[in-house]
Amino acid sequence: MTIPRLNGSRPRTGTTKGRSALLPIHRMLNNKNQAQIPYTVYEQDLTNTRKTNWSMGLHWALAPLRELVPENILSHIQETQVDPHVPTHETDRLPLYNGQTGELIKELVSRKFYRLRRDKFRNMLMTGIPVQWGKQLCDITYSPDGERVTAKFTDGCEDTGRILVGCDGPHSSVRRVLVGDEKAKVTPIDFASTMCFTQHTREHALFLRASPHNPLYQVAAHPDGYCAWLSLHDGDDIDHPENWTFFHYISYPEPKSQINNRTNAEHVAYQKQLASIFVDPWNSVFKWMKPNHPVWYSKLRNWDPSLPEHRWDNKLGRVTLAGDAAHPMTFQRGQGLNHAIMDAYTIKKAIDCFWVSPELGKRADAVGEYEKEMIARGGEEVRLSEQNSIAIHDWRRVMESPSIKSGLALERDN
Ligand SMILES: Cc1cc2nc3c(=O)[nH]c(=O)nc-3n(C[C@H](O)[C@H](O)[C@H](O)COP(=O)(O)OP(=O)(O)OC[C@H]3O[C@@H](n4cnc5c(N)ncnc54)[C@H](O)[C@@H]3O)c2cc1C
Repeated sequence: MTIPRLNGSRPRTGTTKGRSALLPIHRMLNNKNQAQIPYTVYEQDLTNTRKTNWSMGLHWALAPLRELVPENILSHIQETQVDPHVPTHETDRLPLYNGQTGELIKELVSRKFYRLRRDKFRNMLMTGIPVQWGKQLCDITYSPDGERVTAKFTDGCEDTGRILVGCDGPHSSVRRVLVGDEKAKVTPIDFASTMCFTQHTREHALFLRASPHNPLYQVAAHPDGYCAWLSLHDGDDIDHPENWTFFHYISYPEPKSQINNRTNAEHVAYQKQLASIFVDPWNSVFKWMKPNHPVWYSKLRNWDPSLPEHRWDNKLGRVTLAGDAAHPMTFQRGQGLNHAIMDAYTIKKAIDCFWVSPELGKRADAVGEYEKEMIARGGEEVRLSEQNSIAIHDWRRVMESPSIKSGLALERDN
């Protein structure tokens, strides 16, 4: 979260919070060619290291990212990839296999596809941007004159400014304050997954990346109703395959109402059981995982910002949402980061529009316009991603899934 201040007697605030979605905004706010908009970034984590990390595909949002991040910083994007040694081509192909037979079903063609490791990418975006670590937002108040918003943190600190952009992830506290605890809850769908990050012997690691397997990523749908993913997560140490980390999961049907009480060991055992009906590389990568290897269970969930009951009052444009805070979605279509960057791009344009104007109506209009576009685009993607997650687990409908029919591009660009 960020609090900008303008010179003069009246403090003005652009408050943004969160990480990857928000950091491009700050990059742009920092840009010397733009109006100098002061800000502060707040993050609940105590430091820049967190235990959960994953990798994400950046594809259609490269263009807005270029508008936000100066070239001398963005030029390091190649180094933030899961394997910085593999050059990124103008087009890319993500192979989708039949997990039972190994037959190639389709290659999902994409524009330039950066496979980013979240921690490295975030560090790149944070270059030169001060972050207030260990600040967990818990409440928001507004001045009676319609001008200011105040963010309150659990440690008793607070900060005041002109706009607060909540980019605080899928379980956003800002969203909770805006629509209430019940309405802000993410909605589970009838699938779950278990995220596994594993290292292997040199021989096994080389096998997992050797032909016919894709050295970076592949996905498989199984006719029995499962979806498997395997990708490289960390290939930094080019000479030591035993130091490479692989990211893999098999997602499976699980009724939305079911509370999953499996222990870590039971999650691993269940993933191994599912993998036993898959061909390689899934069969082997799960077989080689240790029975007590720490894994991360994840129910598939989303939150559609376009539902009427999810509408929030932006208090004359003083508060809004972006990224997963606004539209958490299921991950199989690989879209959340791309939309988060697009949000950063559009909210930045909105801030530029009202920043130098003293009229409160300008801010209300600009933020209203941002929300109109973001809610329509994000809401559509939440629904498409859900359809995609359902179809990929239903053999009769796999070919109808949005990713197969339309690829990974933004729906309106197809
Ligand atoms: C396994 C997996 C694979 C994915 N693959 C892809 C992909 O291929 N392509 C793609 O586009 N997307 C992908 N995504 C989605 C993508 O990771 C998210 O959409 C993206 O990270 C959202 O960024 P964000 O900044 O909005 O939220 P986050 O990355 O969740 O960051 C939110 C931040 O806010 C902080 N925070 C939370 N609450 C508070 C609070 N109260 N006060 C202060 N700080 C707070 C959190 O600590 C966190 O640092 C994937 C997601 C997963 C889980």
